[in-house]
Amino acid sequence: SKVLVTGANGYIAMWIVRTLLEQGYCVRGAVRSESKGKYLTEYFGKRGFGSDKLEVVVVEDITKPGAFDEAVKGVDAIEHTAAPVASEVANPQEFMKPAVQGTVGILQSALEHGSSVKRIILTSSGAAILARPSEPTLYSEEDWNDESVQDIEQNGANAKPESGYRASKTISERAAWKFVEDHKSNINWDLAVINPPVVFGPCIQEVVGGPTSLNVSQRWLYDAIVDTASKSKEWLYYSSVWIDVRDLALAHVLALQKEAAGGERIAVSAGPFDLQDLVDTANSLEPYPLPSHPPHKGIPGFEKTYLIRLKTDKQEKILGMTGSSLRTMEEAVRDSLMEFAGRG
Ligand code: NDP
Repeated sequence: SKVLVTGANGYIAMWIVRTLLEQGYCVRGAVRSESKGKYLTEYFGKRGFGSDKLEVVVVEDITKPGAFDEAVKGVDAIEHTAAPVASEVANPQEFMKPAVQGTVGILQSALEHGSSVKRIILTSSGAAILARPSEPTLYSEEDWNDESVQDIEQNGANAKPESGYRASKTISERAAWKFVEDHKSNINWDLAVINPPVVFGPCIQEVVGGPTSLNVSQRWLYDAIVDTASKSKEWLYYSSVWIDVRDLALAHVLALQKEAAGGERIAVSAGPFDLQDLVDTANSLEPYPLPSHPPHKGIPGFEKTYLIRLKTDKQEKILGMTGSSLRTMEEAVRDSLMEFAGRG
């Protein structure tokens, strides 16, 4: 069967496409330009997946009404990952448009032109669940991050820089569920949502112009371990929950395959971490994979309090991904550094 993957050239989507192809699916990858598509066909062509397995479509502007009308035709499922990602946003309203309109737009296209579509998976985020607690807090899919939405509503351009992206994930996911509710009698597909927290692990996407062009979460790993001068040491105290990109890609494929995923919001996570953990993990690697940039020590020995924990019952029960099957931080850090070393 054939799966449409939007934002197919992105960090997470490249691994989704790879996992789908390796499992025997045909993939239609939607990208914003021909040149981005070229990288995809070359990368997967080298791995033996020709044009019979992977086709690329260009959707230049996902905010245009009907942008995905052609792309959804003839596919059995859709993985919608395309959305702007930035840790700091100056103009939240503008920033949000492709996130929200892209999400509602692809659902509308699937409603009108996706007669063969059976399931749509939306890549939402832990950002649509987690607040920034001051006390240790256990979150689950029951929780919604409305804090960032309120920050934007009340403070507009003076909202916290991080609220723009975080609110865009809450608002676009809510819009998706509302769309399904509003059209439940006319749609022949169901929706499953994956909520990943911070994603680490090797990048296989095209990175034009060096590390500053890495996707946001892989840039964090790079800045924490390799480019230590770019951030203050206190930044290493930042803690949240995380997952390896390869496990996240598998979760997106399992969410297509497991009947019970339909209608569910599924948080995925390998557990809590702080950025100093990335540094400590790098220091523990033998041999160290990036000898051109020996690891520094960061701020070792501070007392850790992981404020955020995320329940993963659905990840285990619905997707069958148990803690012991997930990649460890050692694998994520080692393989990320090896990837950097390979790129020079
Ligand atoms: P990337 O930046 O690598 O990928 C983002 C993808 O979305 C790219 O294909 C990009 O296309 C596309 N995109 C961005 N802005 C637009 C736009 N305005 N119009 C159309 N397409 C656009 O990031 P990730 O792979 O990390 O993110 C993928 C998804 O996963 C996003 O929805 C993100 O919110 C979500 N996510 C990511 C997490 C992480 O830690 N990485 C954590 C939780 C959720 P182009 O290359 O042309 O810009």
